[in-house]
Amino acid sequence: MDTFDILIVGAGPAGLAAARAARRRGLRTAVVSREAPGGTCVHRGCVPVKSLLASAAARRVGVANAPDWQSALARANEIAESVSRGVAFELARIGVSFFLGEAFGVDSGQVRVESAEASTFELSARHILFAVGSLPVRPGFLPETKRVLDVDGVLRLPSLPRRIVILGGGAIGCEFASIFADFGVETFLVEREAHLLPNIDRDCGVALAGALARRGVRIVTGTVVDAVREGEDGLRVTTADGQSIEADFLLSALGRRSVPVTGGYCVCGDAADSVRLATWAEASAEAVVAALCGEEPVFAGDAIPACVFSYPEVATVGVSEVAARARGMSVRIGKAFFRANVRAAAVGETGGFAKVVADAETGRLLGASIVGPGASDSIAAAAIALKHGLPADSLAGVFTHPSFGEILSAACVDARVLTADGKRRKRPSAVKR
Ligand SMILES: Cc1cc2nc3c(=O)[nH]c(=O)nc-3n(C[C@H](O)[C@H](O)[C@H](O)COP(=O)(O)OP(=O)(O)OC[C@H]3O[C@@H](n4cnc5c(N)ncnc54)[C@H](O)[C@@H]3O)c2cc1C
Repeated sequence: MDTFDILIVGAGPAGLAAARAARRRGLRTAVVSREAPGGTCVHRGCVPVKSLLASAAARRVGVANAPDWQSALARANEIAESVSRGVAFELARIGVSFFLGEAFGVDSGQVRVESAEASTFELSARHILFAVGSLPVRPGFLPETKRVLDVDGVLRLPSLPRRIVILGGGAIGCEFASIFADFGVETFLVEREAHLLPNIDRDCGVALAGALARRGVRIVTGTVVDAVREGEDGLRVTTADGQSIEADFLLSALGRRSVPVTGGYCVCGDAADSVRLATWAEASAEAVVAALCGEEPVFAGDAIPACVFSYPEVATVGVSEVAARARGMSVRIGKAFFRANVRAAAVGETGGFAKVVADAETGRLLGASIVGPGASDSIAAAAIALKHGLPADSLAGVFTHPSFGEILSAACVDARVLTADGKRRKRPSAVKR
């Protein structure tokens, strides 16, 4: 039986980060996965969906040979396979032993692996870590029919539907609404809460809803789907407030649940946490490996940014204005709009804004959100400030000109709470040069 210092089940972002962290510490490391390296992120999540978004963008702006749905799906799958091969190469390069097969816990120091070729073998290790991910939630009222899809089903759809209903206005629902809208599909998006992206700053969801609606997405908020019936030609979807929608397909994007792990094993990533982000999964895995090695784990969850890669992009980090006020925090808000951003004007993308939340007394940055071009990249600057407890002012003047990131500087300047000599400002005022 092969023996390792650490054995990791699952080769998604969490398993891979754990393997890298273990190898950095010189541990003999094995990874077992029932599919090629990459996990949900590479095979069914971040990678193929972002590829579809890129194809959708080409259609939106009218690129002459923009891919049709079949070519877009083929491209997404090719990219996923290529990234997975890259990850497999990296594992080999850093000295991780990779085993393809399904792992079952035997006891605290051993797993049984059933490989695709039906051979079974056992592996043992001092530490065993389960990074087995999550699965889509499928509510019981949805009928068992090929017209009701989860994300995996969409990634296998041979042709575009004429009409689709998407359940859930969270990140995944909004990304697919954006994709389908750009591919010309009549799209309905149903969200139970009063606005889209209910877990982040309200202004973001409202702005995104406006942008999707302008591209023809019919957005239904503040109600739930209470029945889905299949007829000869498609589905009839009814909502609790009495609306009735006919569609060819329904995409359920109502979130995910952790894959259960029994037997007292260490768990990390989506299998352990309710925040389901690749970056979060990686950070959680790093912390678990540090703890297994007797080190003080570092996990700065509050400073991990998230992005919805719809058009427009929506990126956020830290607390929202509403959450800060609900916690009784005294805050100052800064806001700036892309219509005054030179780069945005140059590329004709002037919709959207940046909003920052700063502590009213100290000026410390508590949160930031951006809706608009470059949001997914620009938010990193706010994440650094947040991670290091810096004031919002620290983001003023750190971006090149002209750049999308300047929107964040402008919002931070707008939120200024301190004068240069550290005294508290009464109101934000113009910056003196
Ligand atoms: C549509 C979609 C879009 C997303 N977009 C983003 C995004 O833009 N940005 C972002 O940060 N996050 C995104 N995510 C979330 C991200 O994909 C997950 O948070 C991340 O993949 C979790 O990593 P993980 O390693 O914990 O689990 P996973 O990536 O799910 O990996 C777990 C792996 O373990 C394997 N496994 C499970 N059980 C066993 C077993 N018994 N034996 C062997 N192998 C096993 C699974 O097959 C899988 O390969 C998206 C998710 C989805 C579904």
